[in-house]
Amino acid sequence: WAKAEGRGRWAVYDPERSAADIARSALAAGLPAALDRGEFVVHYQPIVSLLDESMVAVEALVRWQHPELGLIGPDRFIGLAEETGLIVRLGAWVLKQACRDAESWRRAYPATRLVVSVNLAARQADDPGIVETVAEALQHTGLPAELLQLELTESAVMGTAGEPLRSLRRLAGLGVRLAIDDFGTGYSNLAYLRRLPIHCLKLAGPFVEGIRADGTDGDHRDERIVDALVRLAHALELWVTAEAVETEAQAERLRALRCDTGQGRWFGAPMPADRIRARLAGGGKAA
Ligand code: C2E
Ligand code: MG
Ligand code: MG
Ligand code: MG
Repeated sequence: WAKAEGRGRWAVYDPERSAADIARSALAAGLPAALDRGEFVVHYQPIVSLLDESMVAVEALVRWQHPELGLIGPDRFIGLAEETGLIVRLGAWVLKQACRDAESWRRAYPATRLVVSVNLAARQADDPGIVETVAEALQHTGLPAELLQLELTESAVMGTAGEPLRSLRRLAGLGVRLAIDDFGTGYSNLAYLRRLPIHCLKLAGPFVEGIRADGTDGDHRDERIVDALVRLAHALELWVTAEAVETEAQAERLRALRCDTGQGRWFGAPMPADRIRARLAGGGKAA
């Protein structure tokens, strides 16, 4: 009967689609109160040296502990928070929480110099208050600037004016590290690499996924791309982190390709702050 009613009406009355839309708006509507009630939690995923498997950094990844729906991943609400603008307030909260946790690890284990890496949405990076927000998070928590890394995607770096965001230079001026997240999946206008004080490239999961568990990937295309990107990064004196490392074979290939650090389920899934602390207590190796 859908055909008979015509395409437009099908779109309007599709019961599944409207149910999904309603669920989406309900989730979006609930975000501000959830932030006020303290329902968000930050988990941390180890970023590990491929040389000796020591934990050199952690990425802060936000989750929503929803009273009815349970633990909700960021893919379901970060986009909504960007659309509504709440990301500015939510992101500032994540940033402060991450700095607070990192500073408490630093106090407990001063020798480890663990870096905390925090995602910045385009909308946050473009917000006029971003430099002050970051400076304030460092000041209030006491975390040294060099132990904070900010991750931006290529599109967030370039902003809407087709130029790298001016605030990035000021952020780097604070002494924090800047990383390009999901490198290789956006519109790579590589000009920004020579114009901006970037410290690290995070190679997007799909390239790593292409490195097969047995160390081969058919025509080795993804492996050659990783090889080229690692060389590019090192020529620019940048660190490289491979994302989504899921197997030992991938970790070994990445090490052979001179990739510096890896992140993924093979080295540890995102986990609550106290489990990072336990791992530090165990000398930084997988607990
Ligand atoms: P991302 O920054 O690229 O983070 C990496 C994602 O890969 C995380 O998903 C992580 O859980 C997932 N991952 C970990 N190990 C593996 C693995 O072995 N294989 C694969 N395929 N994936 C793995 P998560 O936590 O669901 O976060 C999704 C995205 O949400 C993040 O992607 C980031 O863009 C965004 N996000 C998370 N937290 C924040 C935040 O506080 N602020 C902002 N603006 N965005 C955030
Ligand atoms: Mg996810
Ligand atoms: Mg990230
Ligand atoms: Mg990423």
